[in-house]
Amino acid sequence: MTALPKFNAYINGQWVPPSDGRYFETVNPYTSKVWAEVARCTPEDANRAVEVAHAQLTTGEWSKLNATQRGALVHKLGDLIKENAQELAEYEVRDNGKLLNEMLAQCNYLPQWFYYYGGLADKIEGSVIPIDKAEIFNFTRHEPIGVVAAITPWNSPLLLLAFKLAPALAAGCTLVIKPSEFTSTSTLKLMELVEKAGFPPGVVNVVTGFGAEAGAALVEHPKVAKVAFTGGTESGAYVYQQAAKTLKRCTLELGGKSPNIVFDDAVIDDAVKGAISGIFAATGQTCIAGSRLLVQDGIYDEFVKRLVEFARSARMGDPMDTNTQVGPVTTPPQYQKILQYIEVAKSEGAEVLLGGGPASGPECGDSQWFVQPTIFGGVHNKMRIAQEEVFGPVLSIIRFKTDEEAVEIANDIAFGLAAGVWTQSIKRALKVSAAIRAGTIWVNTYRAISYMSPFGGYKMSGLGRENGIEGMKEYLQTKSVWISTAADVPNPFVMR
Ligand code: NAD
Repeated sequence: MTALPKFNAYINGQWVPPSDGRYFETVNPYTSKVWAEVARCTPEDANRAVEVAHAQLTTGEWSKLNATQRGALVHKLGDLIKENAQELAEYEVRDNGKLLNEMLAQCNYLPQWFYYYGGLADKIEGSVIPIDKAEIFNFTRHEPIGVVAAITPWNSPLLLLAFKLAPALAAGCTLVIKPSEFTSTSTLKLMELVEKAGFPPGVVNVVTGFGAEAGAALVEHPKVAKVAFTGGTESGAYVYQQAAKTLKRCTLELGGKSPNIVFDDAVIDDAVKGAISGIFAATGQTCIAGSRLLVQDGIYDEFVKRLVEFARSARMGDPMDTNTQVGPVTTPPQYQKILQYIEVAKSEGAEVLLGGGPASGPECGDSQWFVQPTIFGGVHNKMRIAQEEVFGPVLSIIRFKTDEEAVEIANDIAFGLAAGVWTQSIKRALKVSAAIRAGTIWVNTYRAISYMSPFGGYKMSGLGRENGIEGMKEYLQTKSVWISTAADVPNPFVMR
């Protein structure tokens, strides 16, 4: 029997085994087979990584680079990602079972984050304040916030890491990354490129393993200044509480239950495709899934008929096959959770219009984690299936009559990550976009993102913004410097 590939942690530019020698298994969701072993990092490993990251930040070679030099390294990393996109995408698919088409598109797009933020690195300027005091020169500096703990989920490991890594490096921060325990390998492969780009050792580190072990140690460490977290709302809220103990800054990109609203003046074919891409692309395993489809009364029957027909034709299969449209669910707990929600929806009285259970057949290979693309009609917004994040290929359709009712339903939820609006009326588009409480609104499109445009959640979907110039500011802090030009020190007993 051949030994499985073994992946070690990446600390201080070295590939290091975990301090207690333990590894965990990583499984390919399409074959249901263990394909590699990954270091189960301990709190001790995490602490070591923070110490080296802190040393680089404060006294190391990294701390002495100017912003243009930092930007050039970030740009170089973008070039290397571009050259290696196919390989990185294949590692992603082996770990998370999402479509190669989707992961390759993401990996091909990743360099843009590094070009954009690499270019921004030396354009962050402080200002001279026209201060209201005599003989004082006052100016601001925007300094790196410090060591960043970047904690990522399994659904789009490298894309969600790029949202953090590129701006943090451009800002001059150092990082310790903790990828999801289900998808560690693409992040480790990326470290080969970090090394090749020429980053000093210790600037970017990866500790693999579990949230409660390596992850928690990072969140608790007093030398970590900021936690950049993407994951579930429950874990995010817990991480936020833990981080508060040492007053860390946090950006939290959490769950969603996004409304995708189809008005009666929408171009039906476009809206059908938008609804499909909102939920079945990525097997529904995306935080921005348009999992609540709100359809206006006048077109409800016609729209739902066409949607179900289209969804029925979705091809399940091997995610590595570029003809596949729906792949397996990534993890066994996620698979169980999706099936439980399907049962909850049935027991709440929702009508199964498509699917409604586990999928099996030759197209599913040896995978035990395929779920049928599922559509529920007759859903009311108060049902659990409409209120809770399923994170799977399960769509709930809700009927509405007026624009006001659509907005009310859209906002009647704890989350606020994104929303879709399908209409040909510009008035309606603007009015509804303003009224929906979510961080991203798409009109006549769905799932568009860019390195340039801020992304983040309202309400329980998160805190702070990633991407764009706002995304860079999350890794900077402002210092105000006061210089006296007075000939002598004025009365020391009076505040100036
Ligand atoms: P998760 O919360 O279980 O895990 C996310 C990461 O946090 C993992 O690396 C995990 O090990 C780590 N973690 C868990 N508990 C921790 C702790 N106590 N301390 C430190 N680290 C801890 O989420 P998941 O199942 O990997 O991902 C799915 C969730 O992510 C969904 O809810 C989805 O909506 C959300 N998500 C959000 C966005 C967004 O941008 N808003 C994007 C993708 C996914």
